[in-house]
Amino acid sequence: MSLFSRKNVPVTDTPVAEVPAADVSTEAPEPADLLICFHNQAGAAVDVTGSVHLQSSHWSCHGCGACSERPHADYLWSTREKANHHAGICRGAYHRIA
Ligand SMILES: [Zn+2]
Repeated sequence: MSLFSRKNVPVTDTPVAEVPAADVSTEAPEPADLLICFHNQAGAAVDVTGSVHLQSSHWSCHGCGACSERPHADYLWSTREKANHHAGICRGAYHRIA
């Protein structure tokens, strides 16, 4: 007679059900007319959208909500410079201001 009733049972590999990862992405969907994407100091996207032709580009920051003063009325070279400058100084992670 044994003092212990517990039997040594070998551990088997039991399949673990895969749980889909929760969508924790804070990234905004990519606009169809995206031309350039900078990233600010917090990693949020600063998108330049529009067209490479004429005065029809625009920038917007997904970190703080700032955007072009003249929506879709700037040349790309100017919009690029402003968006890059903003990305260099902005520390916003995301904004929910509609
Ligand atoms: Zn910003």
